[in-house]
Amino acid sequence: MTVEELEDLPGVGETTAEKLREAGFKTVEAIAVASIGELKDATGMGESASKKIITAARDSEDMGFETASELLKKREKIGKMTTGSKELDMLLGGGFETGSITELYSRFGVGKTQLAFQATVNVQLPKAEGGLEGKALYIDTESTFRPERILQMAKGKNIDEKNVLKNIFVARAFNTDHQMLLADKATEMISENNIKLIVVDSLTGLFRAEYVGRGVLATRQQKLNRHIHTLQRLSDLHNLSIVVTNQVMANPGLLFGDPTTPIGGHIVGHASAYRVYLRKGKAEKRIARLVDSPCMPEGECVFKVTENGIEDA
Ligand code: ADP
Ligand code: MG
Repeated sequence: MTVEELEDLPGVGETTAEKLREAGFKTVEAIAVASIGELKDATGMGESASKKIITAARDSEDMGFETASELLKKREKIGKMTTGSKELDMLLGGGFETGSITELYSRFGVGKTQLAFQATVNVQLPKAEGGLEGKALYIDTESTFRPERILQMAKGKNIDEKNVLKNIFVARAFNTDHQMLLADKATEMISENNIKLIVVDSLTGLFRAEYVGRGVLATRQQKLNRHIHTLQRLSDLHNLSIVVTNQVMANPGLLFGDPTTPIGGHIVGHASAYRVYLRKGKAEKRIARLVDSPCMPEGECVFKVTENGIEDA
């Protein structure tokens, strides 16, 4: 069944469709990427009715199947690059993976950007040393890219300092449209320059700044979803590693449990093969926790951030 109008979805009559549109869910795509809670809030419908609508919307937006053996063949080509810490590599099943998105999330100042910097250095290493012998593309949305810090890390790895910065292409994104455009336009750069890593630091900051308030949540999620899919497609097509950062915000609505949640919630979580939650330990120590991996057990490890970069604790 093709679903084009909201009214084509099961259980959605004129009144519900109107409520959905008012809440910002104007298209089937918007509903496909919504959560049950969001839809319940928007329409006053119950859990199961909301779920039914989302499922129908997702089915109609489906991208199609491929056989598991085709998938296995693709996965045989997958590469891993070292994070700088063997413990963290092990937690991730070998390091940052090509063909996948790894999401690093934490509070401000814990070390997301440091890990991202180290990745732009390590991707250049020979394969025998845990690199991918490639170059990096860095989308900087927070103006925190520091070439001086990259040089420090290169020194720690005994990489030729003259070339290390030439192998990192940095673009500063000014707003979400610009950020999305940079990802859309990356294809040409990737094949011309043997790009093996794309960093988006941060993935969500500009989205959070531009889309404030309940009425625009649906629009924000859709745009973010589209952006993530662009990134996912790039990593699939070119077998490169994607590392994104996401700052957690205090969730005032939550009384129990972890009071911090990553921005973009389930949208980012769904697309990221590896989600790593970072927190501070004593002094230069940092604790990484792997959350929700499709094929690795949950677990924690300790690494440290030093002048040389990311290292084992
Ligand atoms: P965020 O998670 O907000 O991106 P950062 O990656 O910027 O956080 O981490 C900042 C932290 O990294 C600093 O507080 C410090 O602990 C550490 N750090 C940054 N530069 C250095 C350095 N040159 N030597 C040692 N530690 C550093
Ligand atoms: Mg940062």
